Amino acid sequence: MSERVAVVGAGVAGCGVADALAGTDREVVVVEKARGVSGRAATRRKHGCRYDHGANYVKPGEDDEFTGVLESFGVEGLHDVAEPVWVHDADGDIQPGRERDARKWTYEAGITQFAKRVLDASDATVELETEIESLERDDAASDDATATGPWSLVDADGERYAGFDRVVLTPPAPQTAALLAATAWDDDRRDAVRAAADGVAYRTVRTLVLHYDFRVDRPWYALVDPEQTHPVGWLAREECKPGHVPDGESLLIAQMSPAWSVAHDDDPTETAASAAADRVADLLADDRYRDPNWVDSQGWRYALPENAAGDAVRAAEAAGLYCAGDWVVGDGRVHRAFENGRTVGRRLRERG
Ligand SMILES: Cc1cc2nc3c(=O)[nH]c(=O)nc-3n(C[C@H](O)[C@H](O)[C@H](O)COP(=O)(O)OP(=O)(O)OC[C@H]3O[C@@H](n4cnc5c(N)ncnc54)[C@H](O)[C@@H]3O)c2cc1C
Repeated sequence: MSERVAVVGAGVAGCGVADALAGTDREVVVVEKARGVSGRAATRRKHGCRYDHGANYVKPGEDDEFTGVLESFGVEGLHDVAEPVWVHDADGDIQPGRERDARKWTYEAGITQFAKRVLDASDATVELETEIESLERDDAASDDATATGPWSLVDADGERYAGFDRVVLTPPAPQTAALLAATAWDDDRRDAVRAAADGVAYRTVRTLVLHYDFRVDRPWYALVDPEQTHPVGWLAREECKPGHVPDGESLLIAQMSPAWSVAHDDDPTETAASAAADRVADLLADDRYRDPNWVDSQGWRYALPENAAGDAVRAAEAAGLYCAGDWVVGDGRVHRAFENGRTVGRRLRERG
């Protein structure tokens, strides 16, 4: 009987696991709580615009190795954002950045394209709108060669998905820790993995999307405050991405600093967007930005991990329980999360 693998979360790490297991005889089921795949590498459509309100682009790293991975899943609609990223400081002083030549990849159809393409190329089954609340382990099942696997997933409606030999958890660390806390498996290894996940701290980011029916050409695609002391931590011009914003319009992605984001966590969208638009208008020294013609918002409580989980996160792998994601490697980057998922998938393949 072929091995059955459950992957909780269809972010890029979960996609990496599915990719590493493609072409083997395993049955892979990816279970995702959201309506779509790709997690924090997220895209929305509104009023004729398309915008990436989580990860803005994939930067392949200095050796450019990841570009080959992106291209291997299809080059159609894959673009390098040509304009550079400049920097600003706490006083709003804007300067050219010192970024190296690393490319900034995006997709005409939005950054979610990457996850979609990877999953399409894999043999995995994807179950959307299924939030897993706990796991169960039946040790008797694993001792019986004829039985199905020992792991079950239980969703928010109480439905059980049973008979998995291995489970890979990819939600952000605090959500993985909560899942493990609710898991019926009385074993020190569960506690070790949970403690490793609990030890990961996160940066909170609130994204405000500000749309304008005018456009100003600028020499930069985005501004970043490396110190995150200005209220606007990151400001990107989505119109620099082909196919995202109609001609003559502008759509700004304002990712607010951690301090601002926490202070404005509960503000309704209109209130937060109005406050953010004022800071953007100050930064760009142009009062027209105070009055966007429509806005959108997304709070990312667990936006970016500040540290790595450490080796204890692997404590339960011999029992078939794995973790993958940007928090495992301690680097909030699409390519790092995907590669970690692939590494975990390969390890799982070798063990089988
Ligand atoms: C605002 C922001 C800006 C960023 N900018 C960049 C950037 O420009 N470039 C870059 O490379 N990276 C950037 N990142 C980081 C990048 O998005 C992440 O590192 C990467 O997407 C993490 O992928 P992941 O699969 O590890 O986690 P996630 O994307 O969080 O995937 C986890 C998945 O698990 C699902 N899930 C959670 N709980 C459950 C459950 N109980 N049951 C079922 N499913 C569940 C979630 O819905 C999600 O789809 C940014 C992130 C944010 C938030």
